[in-house]
Amino acid sequence: MADAYDRLGFVKSRLVRHGAEREHVAVPPVDAPGTGILLFAGDRVILRPGETPTALLTPDEAARRPDGPLTIFLGRFEDRPVFATALPEDAAESFPEPDFRISDLRGIAAQGAVAAEELGLLATAKSVLAWHGRNGFCSNCGTATEPKAGGFRRECPACGMHHFPRTDPVVIMLVHRGDACLIGRGPHFPGTMYSCLAGFVEPGETIEDAVRRETFEETGIAVGSVRYRASQPWPFPSSLMIGCVAEATTEVITRDPLELAEARWVSRAELRTMFDACHPEGITAPQPLAIAHLLLRDFLDGTV
Ligand SMILES: [Zn+2]
Repeated sequence: MADAYDRLGFVKSRLVRHGAEREHVAVPPVDAPGTGILLFAGDRVILRPGETPTALLTPDEAARRPDGPLTIFLGRFEDRPVFATALPEDAAESFPEPDFRISDLRGIAAQGAVAAEELGLLATAKSVLAWHGRNGFCSNCGTATEPKAGGFRRECPACGMHHFPRTDPVVIMLVHRGDACLIGRGPHFPGTMYSCLAGFVEPGETIEDAVRRETFEETGIAVGSVRYRASQPWPFPSSLMIGCVAEATTEVITRDPLELAEARWVSRAELRTMFDACHPEGITAPQPLAIAHLLLRDFLDGTV
């Protein structure tokens, strides 16, 4: 069985980004044979089902898409030029079953519906396309901006400002003390799931201090040492989850009700029942595609 890291979504990508190619060489033609084209219809991805399902459509298959929407050049995947386009939601109608299948990116990741290396590619495409959708105007002077560098930059024709796709750092932490770890449940969490605490890094803040601040704000628990474990792109729309392991120095929980509906300490034995879906209260662990699963699994396995 693949280890927990191998089952994380979006961490593998064979995309060769070709920053130099975007910048100094003409972007290859989108309809050349061998090109791969990723199509998003609203939030959903158009897939070609079959023995090896893929989101990398051929130019012939992608020709069903309506003209007009911005196409970005991502780079090369297994030496094929790869492009991505965000279409309106109703464009999905042009890609009917059984030749095509439509699925949202979370579902594709959870089901392993495409190769893991293709998930990373889809994460890049989704984040960059979402950024274009929200950044049509210059934040400096308000003029309409123009896509450049294959879609990895927008430029303002009035004031000359360059704008780049953003990545939002989020700390997510396994907070532990002795044989227990701290888990919580956000007000909007699905079903019965509990997870690690998490929060956005603020400007001018270290990762370690963000872990300490978020943990204290949400639960009143003080944290001492913090160490980095692994990171995960989370393209909803553009987060980078920074997984950390943190040692608590206090135990009394004072929950912030706006941030968390529940927070509690669980022992390794209790966490085991959550992973095995036999917890007496029916609470469950996050899915293997999420980095919180990896962090909690580390704790369970005693590697923390
Ligand atoms: Zn401007």
